[in-house]
Amino acid sequence: MRIERIILYSVPIDVGMELTRYVASQSIDPALDTLVVRIETDSGLIGWGEVCSAPPYYLPELSAGAREGIRHVAPLVLGRDPRQVLSVLGDIGAALRGHGNAKTALEMALWDLAAKAHAMPLVDLWGGRVADSLPVLAVVRIGTRDETLASLEAFRAEGYSRFQVKVGAGEAHDDISTIRMVEDMKLPHERIWYDPNRGWSVDDAMRVILAVRDLAPMIENPCESFEECRNVARRTGVPFMLDEVIDGPRRFLQAVQDEVMDVASLKTSAVGGIEATRTIMTLAKTLGVPVRIEDYYGTGILLACVTHLAHTLPRKMVFGLYDYVSEDLPMVKNPLKVENGEIRLPDAPGPGLDVDVNEAVLGDPVAVIEA
Ligand SMILES: [Mg+2]
Repeated sequence: MRIERIILYSVPIDVGMELTRYVASQSIDPALDTLVVRIETDSGLIGWGEVCSAPPYYLPELSAGAREGIRHVAPLVLGRDPRQVLSVLGDIGAALRGHGNAKTALEMALWDLAAKAHAMPLVDLWGGRVADSLPVLAVVRIGTRDETLASLEAFRAEGYSRFQVKVGAGEAHDDISTIRMVEDMKLPHERIWYDPNRGWSVDDAMRVILAVRDLAPMIENPCESFEECRNVARRTGVPFMLDEVIDGPRRFLQAVQDEVMDVASLKTSAVGGIEATRTIMTLAKTLGVPVRIEDYYGTGILLACVTHLAHTLPRKMVFGLYDYVSEDLPMVKNPLKVENGEIRLPDAPGPGLDVDVNEAVLGDPVAVIEA
């Protein structure tokens, strides 16, 4: 079996999520697209991958870099046997430093194809499921006390118990009020954490966190750099989740060894792709650090990939996944469904990622790469 062709599609996507400080500070608002990779073989098997690159004020890469990165390493993929996936991935890694967005989409498609070539679900090629079902997080919209409680109650009614709250868009005293208000609404079994998306200076972070430290709130990635986050973590002692400053397995290890981090959010693009994510998952399991597994955004293809990945971990090691599926962009005809705040793979998934891609939404290819 040989890989014959790599086809790329660019599909406009409306992320429509809370962007905290970016709403006010971002003067150029780039239109976002999700890049879909289709890998064709001489056997007729097809592999699918996806990456929705974050805007370059969020991650240090351009969306267009995903396309160009895949084009750059395509000669290492064409003509190869997809069952030898680790060999192909090793060659890609040796030829392309960084470009976690390109590697996310390309490595996803290669793993989908490898599992199909072995006629097994991807979770089984990765060793089989350990978790039966996994928690999904929801982002609570902050407004007045009544509005905030209504947002929380609506998610509770759907079965959610893990909630992210965006802060950092206004002044420090606003964030202090928000954290006090939401912590007061929290039920004993719930997890709630506060994410300024790197928007706090160390001064902001110290002012906010010390003012609410009696509540022991969990804080997500407060400051721009790892070093600033470490400074704040050491001086405040509250639970910490790191997100976009975790830029690879080495940084993950450092964050654990430096005692900065209780939970890690692994964005596949930020950490270096699917292989880097799998490496960190192994470290996380060994070191006992729960993880979120996600990317900046995506559709049902990405959701399938992170769900297959996460099911290979014990449930207690998965802090939460995120539901990317939107009726506005029906990329996959058989998307995984969140029920009662949980996501689970079918009892008998089809081969690979088991995504039935809705080719009607792909449009014309932006690139067809063949030998
Ligand atoms: Mg975050």
